[in-house]
Amino acid sequence: MFDKVLIANRGEIALRIQRACHGLGIKTVAVYSEADRNAQYVQNADEALCIGPAAPGLSYLNQTALLFAAKVTGAQAIHPGYGFLSENAGFAERIEAAGLTFIGPSAACIRTMGDKVAAKRAMREAGVPCVPGPDSTMPSDDASILAIAAEIGYPVIVKAAGGGGGRGMRVVQEHTELLAAIALTREEARLAFGNPELYIEKFLGHPRHVEIQVLCDAHGHAIWLGCRDCSLQRRHQKVLEEAPAPGIDSALIAKVGERCAEACRQIGYRGVGTFEFLYEDGEFFFIEMNTRLQVEHPVTEMTTGIDIVQQQLRMARGEVLSLRQEDVQLNGHSLECRINAEDPSTFMPTPGLIQRWEVPGGFGVRVDSHVTTGYRVPPYYDSMVAKVITHGATREEAMARMRLALSEMIVDGISTNIPLHREILDDPAFQAGGVDIHHLERWLQQRSPT
Ligand code: ADP
Repeated sequence: MFDKVLIANRGEIALRIQRACHGLGIKTVAVYSEADRNAQYVQNADEALCIGPAAPGLSYLNQTALLFAAKVTGAQAIHPGYGFLSENAGFAERIEAAGLTFIGPSAACIRTMGDKVAAKRAMREAGVPCVPGPDSTMPSDDASILAIAAEIGYPVIVKAAGGGGGRGMRVVQEHTELLAAIALTREEARLAFGNPELYIEKFLGHPRHVEIQVLCDAHGHAIWLGCRDCSLQRRHQKVLEEAPAPGIDSALIAKVGERCAEACRQIGYRGVGTFEFLYEDGEFFFIEMNTRLQVEHPVTEMTTGIDIVQQQLRMARGEVLSLRQEDVQLNGHSLECRINAEDPSTFMPTPGLIQRWEVPGGFGVRVDSHVTTGYRVPPYYDSMVAKVITHGATREEAMARMRLALSEMIVDGISTNIPLHREILDDPAFQAGGVDIHHLERWLQQRSPT
């Protein structure tokens, strides 16, 4: 049990976690870099401590400083948020070794899921459908490699076992290109992730990105909370998300959701997590599991009525999951637009002073943001400044509310991608629902040929 949580993150998610803690009567410690000193959520925390200069490596990624901050403030638990140290098994271990609680799964689970080959093996064993291809690392001899790819059938994708952030992958169209592509990807993986292990799987040509949220306690109970569609991406970064994924048979989603929950029971997973799938031609294919809270969790909260962050805190406190699968009722539709401090056409970051900040409101509208008028967006971190979330009885209603919400939002002083979101909402293909993961980039190219 803990009653004081150190939030090892910044920005909107630090505020989101702070609210969830306060809602449960838990005290919070905000840690901040010198660049975030004046943020409102830092002022609103029960205690706040500067942990270093702006550079993330010296502050939000500084494990020793974070553990020291927990010690001096008496925080008994650390919430890592997303990004930064949220999927760092070594950090989870250090926290537990210091006698504190890491708000997340065990280090062993983080480690298994961080190795994509081990993750795929664990999921296949649990009956979760995976992308065709072996769940073992690549053999060393050329003939065996070529035989594996031939059996899968071209095109294939060569991926780094330790990869992340959309890096360490290469698509191979035919066998003459395979060995050179492997040599290149292996070298990249060695340099970028310190792990040269690779694997091969079928390359899917026009998939959607559909993911399933899970919630598990430490006593063997696991449930799934519906699905989200995050196919609108640019350079593997999600731009706009929704729940549920439009046009997919709910019986199929339930079947896959059940498998995910079962996989969690089998590996002893605790807390919240997300199973990411590619969905193509009516089939789901597992690609990876994220062992943390995700940016897009609010669309699931809006459609289930469940506060995912409060549940995550409760699970970390050792409570027994009070929700059963049949208590999870999916209601209506929700959209989330990630509002970034960036130029809407060039996507260059636009840090600087926000002179005026007016957020939308009304029925079915939620804004998660740490920004206020007079806030200076620092140039050192992710450019996301807000998430505008809408909910409606239908997808059409959620879209109409989003259009209205974006028209009410006023940001002066810096450019944001709000105009891009408005255009996406006017795109007939998006309106119809179910676009694939390449749609946004194709659409951007047609809009402004380069
Ligand atoms: P990362 O951990 O780097 O995000 P993922 O395995 O989640 O890596 O893959 C990132 C993205 O790469 C996916 O969202 C998808 O766009 C593409 N991708 C990965 N595997 C495949 C595949 N087998 N077929 C087609 N696209 C893929």
